[in-house]
Amino acid sequence: MNSIEDKAHINGRRGIVFNIQRFSIHDGPGIRTTVFAKGCPLKCAWCSNPESQKLFPQLMVREVKCTRCGRCAEACPDNAISLTEEHGRKINWDLCSQCFKCTEVCIYESLGIIGKDMGIEEIVKEVEKDRIFYKNSGGGVTISGGEPLLQNKFVLNLIKAFKEKDINTALDTCGYVSEEVFREILPFVDLLLLDIKQLDSERHQKYTGVDNSLILTNARTFSKKVRTWFRIPLIKDFNDSPEDIRKIAEMASELGVEKISLLPYHEGGKSKSFQIGGMYSIPMAKAPDNNHIQRLKNIVSKIGVAVTVGN
Ligand code: SF4
Ligand code: SF4
Repeated sequence: MNSIEDKAHINGRRGIVFNIQRFSIHDGPGIRTTVFAKGCPLKCAWCSNPESQKLFPQLMVREVKCTRCGRCAEACPDNAISLTEEHGRKINWDLCSQCFKCTEVCIYESLGIIGKDMGIEEIVKEVEKDRIFYKNSGGGVTISGGEPLLQNKFVLNLIKAFKEKDINTALDTCGYVSEEVFREILPFVDLLLLDIKQLDSERHQKYTGVDNSLILTNARTFSKKVRTWFRIPLIKDFNDSPEDIRKIAEMASELGVEKISLLPYHEGGKSKSFQIGGMYSIPMAKAPDNNHIQRLKNIVSKIGVAVTVGN
């Protein structure tokens, strides 16, 4: 980044975004555009977007076929790319300094960059393209991540810009954020999508890398103040016991949470993890089977909280 961009970041006029997904029906009501901000303080073992975890842009091997032309290896200043008969193009991720020179020479786009430095106006313009669908479906924009509030100044300005355009705005957060940040941002948020993964603190720490006490305190403080849905990623043998779900549903009921979304685990994060040179920490992760998901859904319903599966 040059110094002008640095200042823009400090003022929160720019941020690092790794995807803008149009026509989303899984991130809040109606048809929505989801803006995915990069960076996350958690490291969930089952993460479906491992490319979101680091704040800054990263080299990502794309699924486009490599022709083994060798241009990238020649361009790499760190000798991090090798080409062999046996393995084809191989990246030594320990040597890679993330300079992205290889992406400039790969005419087949087999190497790319995940994460883009974007300005507020550019993002709003993209989101506005689907305004007609928001009006007709009760949708809007959802800011997700990663953890979007890791870039809290940028996200605050982004949400204010959407409010000025009268676009319904949802915020999807893991809740591991200071109370001050929530207090500042929530007056501009129409719907809080709060991820509640596990109430047991030891299990939470083991599988996400952080203790859940800040998340639960924020849930108790803020879900009473703004329309809130709890989102539970469902992972077999981590948080899918009837007791796990009953406790979260009781908490939701007590706090007046409008809905619980059960989001069964999917394997999308596995291949992406390898594409950025990472390891997937629980390769045996699975979603509960459909009958069990139905059982969990019934438990939530009986407690009197609305519940959906998948959105
Ligand atoms: S430049 Fe692209 S196509 Fe050529 S070897 Fe490198 S990754 Fe493969
Ligand atoms: S991004 Fe990594 S692999 Fe690509 S040229 Fe730079 S150092 Fe080499």
